[in-house]
Amino acid sequence: MKVAVVAETRPGERRVALVPELVGRLTDAGLDVAVEPGAGAAAGLPDDSYRAVGATVAADAVAGARALLSVRPVQARRVAELAPNAVTVSFLPTGRELDLVRALRDAGHTAFAMELVPRISRAQAMDALSSQAFVAGYRAALVAAERLPRFLPMSMTASGTIRPAAVFVIGAGVAGLQAIATTRRLGAVVRAYDVRAAAAEEVRSLGAEFVHLELPTLEGAGGYARKMTEERSRSQRALLAPHVAASDVLITTAAVPGRPAPMLVTAPMVAAMKPGSVVVDLAAEWGGNVEGAKPGEEITVGETLVWGGRDVPSQLPAQASQLYSANVVNLLLLMCADGELAPDFADEIIAACCVTHAGEVRHAPTRVLLG
Ligand code: NAD
Repeated sequence: MKVAVVAETRPGERRVALVPELVGRLTDAGLDVAVEPGAGAAAGLPDDSYRAVGATVAADAVAGARALLSVRPVQARRVAELAPNAVTVSFLPTGRELDLVRALRDAGHTAFAMELVPRISRAQAMDALSSQAFVAGYRAALVAAERLPRFLPMSMTASGTIRPAAVFVIGAGVAGLQAIATTRRLGAVVRAYDVRAAAAEEVRSLGAEFVHLELPTLEGAGGYARKMTEERSRSQRALLAPHVAASDVLITTAAVPGRPAPMLVTAPMVAAMKPGSVVVDLAAEWGGNVEGAKPGEEITVGETLVWGGRDVPSQLPAQASQLYSANVVNLLLLMCADGELAPDFADEIIAACCVTHAGEVRHAPTRVLLG
């Protein structure tokens, strides 16, 4: 049974859905792996590194494949190249990919969306949102450190003492915690804020200070924050302002599942930061936590540099691909028996992340969107 790995085509996408290191896990399970030429090139993985571990590299890798692995959703026209009743595994933001969802449904394929993998302990090894957020958080810290025209650590030298930089992280989920850990390792004094009270312990365990704002806690199902009302957001911004102004670096990672990112830092708040300060907005692609931040661009607001994240995990493509591949392989093997793919919909992981199957859209919110 052929499993195909796509060469990503979206501009800025440098990851690959399967790294050579993990090909063996699929071949050991009785699957044949076919890779499109150049699929791993942008991640530093030449075609020969796939051939060396038993994969085929061919321009027609997708033709007749029973499973299709990609990072981004494939183009709808490619669906026809697959074998009947094939399985696709990729990120699949269904609200933005309705034509593709229709094509997958009408072709009878079983499509899985990595962003729908449930956030439960058993699914952690398949959690691509977390693995890619981990990469993005690390990258955010390095971007800030590199652009800041001053030291991060405190340094005592014969010529004088350098005070440590002050870093403020808003949003202490997976990306935020990694940004905290990395800036701490670089010696900065780090403070962090999240609407989830549960984040405080994790922040402190990394040696950072948790900033508590006097707002009623909002905790949604599963511990995720719910969208705040505009009035609450206004008071939140007012309370955040002095912490932002006191920081040399601001890293924002706040997100609300299924909604645009909350706008937490206004342009006047950024302009009030010290000259030379740096803001890294990891949420810029999803609407932004920082007013004016533009995905993929660096702008200045007052005398502060504002870096808007875009395709951030792709900026460290080797490790982002390695972690994403492990997520995809673990999900694929969960539905693999005797060299065949047989998804068991009684399994809550399979049921949660399946978008289409047997000519139907199984994901209820997407069904509503399709009307
Ligand atoms: P995310 O990317 O959706 O959001 C990032 C953070 O932004 C979250 O911590 C959220 O609380 C915070 N946020 C939202 N609105 C905010 C606001 N107005 N002000 C400040 N912060 C705001 O989250 P994520 O990183 O994917 O995950 C968040 C949490 O989910 C984790 O810390 C963890 O507790 C849980 N989680 C569980 C599992 C698992 O059990 N398998 C896996 C991943 C995450």
